[in-house]
Amino acid sequence: MPTPKSIAFLEAAIAADTDACIPWPFYVKKGYGRFTMGGKNCVAHVFACRAVHGPAPTLEHQVAHLCGLKCCVNPRHLLWSTQSENIMDEFILGRKRPSRMPTRRRKTEVKIALRLPAHAGMLPDYD
Ligand SMILES: [Zn+2]
Repeated sequence: MPTPKSIAFLEAAIAADTDACIPWPFYVKKGYGRFTMGGKNCVAHVFACRAVHGPAPTLEHQVAHLCGLKCCVNPRHLLWSTQSENIMDEFILGRKRPSRMPTRRRKTEVKIALRLPAHAGMLPDYD
């Protein structure tokens, strides 16, 4: 059985030695690459993340794009992240304006991010 183009593309993306975005060239829905495998609908960036970084640590974890390009399947740009971490990353990386979120929730997200060592290097230096 020939390898479907989408699987071959994902395998190449996973093996690629590049820091550039690898946009999904096939079917895209709501910004995310999609394909079918064995009759199941799959999300391309989740497949790439799982293949390289392993399964989601918990059920709360989703795949986050560090680059902000939803259809990117470069595993170097993907990581497992909780929704709170994901929202905070978008603030820090400047992809989401805080004004879009209710103030109470925004403060909570900032507190969560400040507690996480993974975000420490990304916060501004207040010397
Ligand atoms: Zn990317």
